[in-house]
Amino acid sequence: MRGLRRIMKKGLGEMGFNMGGGVINWFPGHMAAATRAIRDRLKLADLVIEVRDARIPLSSANEDLQPLLSGKRRVIALNKKDLANPNIMHKWSHYFDSCNQDCLSINAHSKSSVQKLLELVEWKLKEVISREPTLLVMVVGVPNVGKSALINSIHRIASSRFPVQEKKKRATVGPLPGVTQDIAGYKIAHQPSIYVLDTPGVLVPSIPDIETGLKLALAGSVKDSAVGEERIAQYLLAVLNTRSTPLHWKHLNNRRMEGIQYESQDKHEYDIRNLLPKRRKPPNGSDAQYIENVVTEVQHALYLTLSEFDGNLDDEGDLEALIGQQFEALQKALKIPHKASEARIMVSKKFLTLFRTGKLGPFILDDVPDASDPVS
Ligand code: GDP
Repeated sequence: MRGLRRIMKKGLGEMGFNMGGGVINWFPGHMAAATRAIRDRLKLADLVIEVRDARIPLSSANEDLQPLLSGKRRVIALNKKDLANPNIMHKWSHYFDSCNQDCLSINAHSKSSVQKLLELVEWKLKEVISREPTLLVMVVGVPNVGKSALINSIHRIASSRFPVQEKKKRATVGPLPGVTQDIAGYKIAHQPSIYVLDTPGVLVPSIPDIETGLKLALAGSVKDSAVGEERIAQYLLAVLNTRSTPLHWKHLNNRRMEGIQYESQDKHEYDIRNLLPKRRKPPNGSDAQYIENVVTEVQHALYLTLSEFDGNLDDEGDLEALIGQQFEALQKALKIPHKASEARIMVSKKFLTLFRTGKLGPFILDDVPDASDPVS
């Protein structure tokens, strides 16, 4: 693991981040103002759903607001569970249980999964029924964890439960005394009426060290441009190699990979369709086969390079050399023309797309802490 740490430290120097041990400024200043606004809005909420990325259950938390959040009635929703390793997810559930923190792993796109979350929310709010006729739930989380996807699913469920939705309005604590504003929410329960606010609170990710920043970048909560695709891809390779993950891909060559799914019509920057050769036709069955083959080739390339590697993974130079070889092997597997200028960036982008769409398998990047450590 020392090699991995050294690579990250090296990255820190090359990227010109603040090496004085202070806080790295990954975000524009206006995000601090957003945190202040959220503090005010949080005062209104009777319960908060804190959405985190299931692949980074701790790194996707905002440290500054933890004291406030843990002082409220809170449910932690570990979203994108479809991309997280289920066995390790189980350990995380135990961890949060042992800290008496309600937590549920969910897939924000799945109605049944979101319904389970709402059941837990309603159950927790029942304690306060006698005191409040109307209860408000707020969704918060760092960027890209799936807050909007969750609120959309909640909206759909709310509309089926209460076809005629009255907009909930309530005076909020404004930034100045006496200033109020209207807020809107979706009604999910009656007697007591429970509303989920329709706008999520965006939290600023906390980045105490470079590795947390790289994990957040890998999960998409920090812009790629802040770190650089190549460095994120190098970090991913370092993680895979030090965990020996490619060695488990030995037997996958003849495996039928899952068919690809085209869930949405929008084309995101990290879209599995970006791996297809450029042309106009809509994706079809043979495209799914094409992508399966690319995934198999990528896995095989990483398996071969790691199994033939006779260096020491703890040695920074050796690990870097291996990653260099793997970039070349990936270029072939991803069918990027030999002479393409910017080839390393193209390799990085496509490789990251495979990871981010779950094609390299499910992962959890954070380590489960000792149960005695407090939840953060
Ligand atoms: P927000 O910035 O927190 O509001 O995040 P979004 O709701 O915009 O989601 C960010 C990206 O994650 C989008 O591409 C979503 O489709 C995707 N996403 C959200 N929830 C899930 C999930 O449970 N699983 C997977 N695989 N993707 C998800």
